[in-house]
Amino acid sequence: MERLDRLITYFSRLPGIGRKSASRIAYWLLETDRGFVEGFSKDLGEIRDCIVRCRECGNYAESELCDVCDSPVRERSLMCVVEQSRDVATIESTGEFRGIYHVLHGVLSPLDGVGPEELGLGKMRARIKKEGVSEVIVATNPTLEGDSTALYIVRMLSEDGIKVSRIATGLPVGGDMEYADKLSVARALRARQNL
Ligand SMILES: [Zn+2]
Repeated sequence: MERLDRLITYFSRLPGIGRKSASRIAYWLLETDRGFVEGFSKDLGEIRDCIVRCRECGNYAESELCDVCDSPVRERSLMCVVEQSRDVATIESTGEFRGIYHVLHGVLSPLDGVGPEELGLGKMRARIKKEGVSEVIVATNPTLEGDSTALYIVRMLSEDGIKVSRIATGLPVGGDMEYADKLSVARALRARQNL
């Protein structure tokens, strides 16, 4: 069935969903309540259009500024640099961090053509100056690319006299922050090392 195959192909493109799970979801959709399917498909398109990147930090937001950038109580002298928007959610869930964020939406990866320019590191540097940030915590993942991105940021910001630390301990090596539990992330934040 061509239409059913198309549906399965869509689902198998989702992260972490193999062909088998995709097929299970597709068949389930055929049998489930029609109202659910209508609401879901309508929301999917709408949500994709309504959630944008925060003008300041790159975090996902429903307006020009995200909740953190828009908050009058966050410490603007302290910034945490993360790879993905979902890392902000992970760190926020610990309640350990009161500063602002900067979301890179990736890491340095020369082989894929992602250099400092593509990652917007110059823009980040300018923002740090503009906001008067004095301490930066680099919370990229402990992978090869995450480490080299952190190193690049440390070198760049040290030139500007910014205190830079790296969150690493407590997170599984080669693992994503996404999979670390709240406690590990909180511990890693507290045990950050000055570089
Ligand atoms: Zn923001």
